[in-house]
Amino acid sequence: MHSLHNLTIKSFHEGLVKKEFTALEIAQAYLKYIEVRDPEIGAFLSTAKDQAYQQAEQADLAIARGEEVGALAGVPMAIKDNILIKGLPATAASKMLENYTASYDAAVIVELKKAGAVFLGKTNMDEFAMGSSTENSAFKITKNPHDLERVPGGSSGGSAAAVADNMALAALGTDTGGSIRQPASLCGVVGLKPTYGAVSRHGAIAMASSLDQIGPITKTVEDAAILFKALAAKDRHDSTNVRVNYGDELLNPKLEDIKNMTIGLPSEYFIDGLSPEVRKAMDEVIASLKTLGIKFKEITLPHTKHAISCYYIIMPAEVSSNLARYDGIRYGTREHGKNAKNLIDLYKLNKSNGFGAEVQRRLILGTFVLSSGYYDAYYAKAQKVRRLMRQDFDNAFKEVDVILTPVSPTPAFKIGEKTSDPLSMYLSDIFTIPVNMAGVPAISIPAKVEGKLPIGFQLIGKHWREADILGIGQYYERINKI
Ligand code: GLN
Repeated sequence: MHSLHNLTIKSFHEGLVKKEFTALEIAQAYLKYIEVRDPEIGAFLSTAKDQAYQQAEQADLAIARGEEVGALAGVPMAIKDNILIKGLPATAASKMLENYTASYDAAVIVELKKAGAVFLGKTNMDEFAMGSSTENSAFKITKNPHDLERVPGGSSGGSAAAVADNMALAALGTDTGGSIRQPASLCGVVGLKPTYGAVSRHGAIAMASSLDQIGPITKTVEDAAILFKALAAKDRHDSTNVRVNYGDELLNPKLEDIKNMTIGLPSEYFIDGLSPEVRKAMDEVIASLKTLGIKFKEITLPHTKHAISCYYIIMPAEVSSNLARYDGIRYGTREHGKNAKNLIDLYKLNKSNGFGAEVQRRLILGTFVLSSGYYDAYYAKAQKVRRLMRQDFDNAFKEVDVILTPVSPTPAFKIGEKTSDPLSMYLSDIFTIPVNMAGVPAISIPAKVEGKLPIGFQLIGKHWREADILGIGQYYERINKI
């Protein structure tokens, strides 16, 4: 039996078709490992043994029948708990959805089921994806497998920790301002936020709809490419979903194409606040990519300094609108409002007890910036600044093919270190938020580092050019033997 540690989607597939093991054996091995290890890590909110075994058996049957199976057949995955899988809980780590069972599959799950994937369980996250450390979960704290005193990042912290600790071969996360890339960076795995519109969000519990995307969290860039290709299918349920023909270049990048690329280094991202370890890791990544023949050029993204303030107007505005539905009548539990004397009382009791502090903070911010009299001063103005941020990227991409930056200013921080100071938590997303504001794709890839804590670097691509960032990433991986 292969050790789970060495498996990638690629090597799993090879072993499976060569009949070195069955999908069921591997699913059993993962679920057994989750049982012993997860009480310590806290990556999962629920597991799905019965469904997983059935799915694995289907993959095994197809192979026994001599059918040709795809790259994801039998692949054991962990899914963030804000993505619906029919018949399984989907809580978004909120008390508001504590007893909710999904009645349908999200579009990405439909695609993965067609591809034969196996779903091991649902992963912990910040409540409704609001946070950068997974400490905002209503249910439990997830620990960073590299140092149990530290956070795994967030909001897809459970998914990143599960992959990093070999409790799943791959995972799905969602990214509104960095929630795939930042936990991937802090846990030492790969995380891709696709172009806005590349992957359907139908069946993902919405946070801020003009920013949300679903994407893969994997051990290698090559695996991220395989998974992304399966996710990027056209779905009529999400009107932002665009059909793009992602061809084979995602999986087989050519060295001639990579060599001729120019990578931009934005001066606004290589600042004094960067921790020395992160700075050193970036320098080494740049040196390593130069050996491929890639050229580097300093660029500027001048509106970066407004990214966080602008995000904390637009995002809460959309959050307050998306979360209005959890009124305990149409959506969400009514548990906390059952003793209410009237309708207003029901709303008050149910929302103030069903939502955690961070969610409530954003609902209040959001309703304020949208209120008449303040709308133009805040929301409309932030939209204009967002437009300028997008133009920054458009201008930069006239000069360079890809942009390289850190993912997070520091490696994983300690559990509890930033919980009392929301602003310092918000600031840790400075390098990831502009990407969502512009809608471009970006990937976090583990840099080769000596210390115990992983550090990721971010490659940002042009709209619909996931192939460029996945291509450079795959060559980085090859030359550094990751
Ligand atoms: N950390 C950011 C926030 O708290 C981003 C969250 C996300 O991408 N879902 O909003």
